[in-house]
Amino acid sequence: MLAHLGYGSRSDLKKAVKNGLIEVNGIRVKDSGMQVDPEQDEITVSGEKIVYREFVYLLLNKPQGVVSATEDNRDRTVVDLLSEAYAPFDVFPVGRLDKDTEGLLLLTNDGKLAHNLLSPRKHVSKTYYAKVEGAVGENDKQAFEAGVELDDGYVTMPAQLRVLTCDIIVDPPRSEIELTIQEGKFHQVKRMFQAVGKRVVYLKRISMGPLQLDPALGLGEYRELTREELELLQ
Ligand code: URA
Repeated sequence: MLAHLGYGSRSDLKKAVKNGLIEVNGIRVKDSGMQVDPEQDEITVSGEKIVYREFVYLLLNKPQGVVSATEDNRDRTVVDLLSEAYAPFDVFPVGRLDKDTEGLLLLTNDGKLAHNLLSPRKHVSKTYYAKVEGAVGENDKQAFEAGVELDDGYVTMPAQLRVLTCDIIVDPPRSEIELTIQEGKFHQVKRMFQAVGKRVVYLKRISMGPLQLDPALGLGEYRELTREELELLQ
């Protein structure tokens, strides 16, 4: 159990047992293979009480250049950004962001929660901030609300577009927008703009369901979800 929680390798923990550092219910452990009930037994390491948990939930501000996977032959993955302490939990990213997309990515080992968040039937909203080449306007807003046809013929569900800035003085024109979608097709935001003749040049996810990207997190930084955030997700 202690190895699983990241308190060290099995051999480290054997040493800790030998050195008398581990106690269960106030009694010094002699056998490192001793079975414990994580819900009932009070376990201490060097006098410090261990809090057992099965699941881990991490909010990452994904940088560009890393892939949303647990392993990859070529590229660094989002899991490579995490401290060793999380290795025993086998977390995985909940959904995918493109290699060049930044922003909010949830990592967890809670398969049920991940499944619920990704289920197409749940329509969990995702909001993206994007810089777009082209003058985004009212026509695009209406087109996205009605649904646009992607390059493979798929027609998107209603999506909400907010134009933050539109600069038509420069050539080509540039816009900044926020787009909220309730689905998650491959490269969806980029392909939606492609469908209206424009090009996404920068993309960042700023929210997913009730979770917001934490402005305190720099690119590549992460933190555990707060109890309140976790309750909102359940
Ligand atoms: N839409 C995209 O085009 N890319 C992403 O990474 C996420 C949504």
